[in-house]
Amino acid sequence: MQIDYQNIIEKAYRQTQPLKDPGKLADYIPELANVDPGQFGVHYTNLDGADFGMGDNQVRFSIQSIAKVLSLTLAYKMVGEKIWERIDVEPSGTKFDSLLLLEINNGIPRNPFINAGAMVVCDILVSHLINARMEFLDFVRDLSDLPDLAYSDTIADSEKAHGHRNVALCNFIKSLGNIQNKPAEVLDFYFDMCSLEMNCRELSRTFSFLANGGVKVSDQKEIISTNMSKRINALMLTCGFYDESGEFAFKVGLPGKSGVGGGIVALYPRHFTIAAWSPRLNPKGNSFKGMKFLEEFTNHSELTIF
Ligand code: GLN
Repeated sequence: MQIDYQNIIEKAYRQTQPLKDPGKLADYIPELANVDPGQFGVHYTNLDGADFGMGDNQVRFSIQSIAKVLSLTLAYKMVGEKIWERIDVEPSGTKFDSLLLLEINNGIPRNPFINAGAMVVCDILVSHLINARMEFLDFVRDLSDLPDLAYSDTIADSEKAHGHRNVALCNFIKSLGNIQNKPAEVLDFYFDMCSLEMNCRELSRTFSFLANGGVKVSDQKEIISTNMSKRINALMLTCGFYDESGEFAFKVGLPGKSGVGGGIVALYPRHFTIAAWSPRLNPKGNSFKGMKFLEEFTNHSELTIF
């Protein structure tokens, strides 16, 4: 696709950068409140390899829930369509850490991107892998071509010490019969998974396989089938921003995924991926400036799936 993406990104970045940001850091994980809140980076990666970034695009941050797409990819690859017997594919319309619908839905989380769904995904990986923590990390290292990629023990420990709601969620699902391993083991892996750190450039490159029909761009290795990739993208579009997924589709018009570290990655199938990071979050837990920037980007470029 021939577009002057550099110009468009510069324009969108300059429009977003000076905005007064009413957002707040995710201090329910105390360590996440220790980042400099003024940082703002963006990075665009075209499937042909051309890329362009601005601002703090080389600063690594906690990708948090964005990692849920990668754990889903590995679990889906391992167990196939059976995964949907344990996790639904509907938007939840509730906060990412809500317990509300679980009782009504007999422990079947509404989708794999709310915390409840991501915990069931973690449970599946703990059941199928000898060492889920290491094997998941190896999978993401290979997918991202980043052999030095690591979990942040500081962030994971901070969440382990304060994640009472997540502990409640996992135990609740266990009581409803949809967690097979010990909740403590599943939670440990869940917190580690969420603590992965990447910068915007790395994030946009890592997600390229989903813009490329499930095939890793750098070595053309099939990670998942095109059909599976279509389904994961559909879930990102409908559930990637929790109870703000409709708003993101409405304003940005691309499948994407956010995390409470302030990161967002979005993609246009067969064309590009784009990542934005700014740690201050809006009331729904999504990056205030990240969303604004992506909205400006698709407005100016007219590159939306709609
Ligand atoms: N680790 C975070 C939590 O469980 C992930 C939430 C998010 O990024 N939305 O609360």
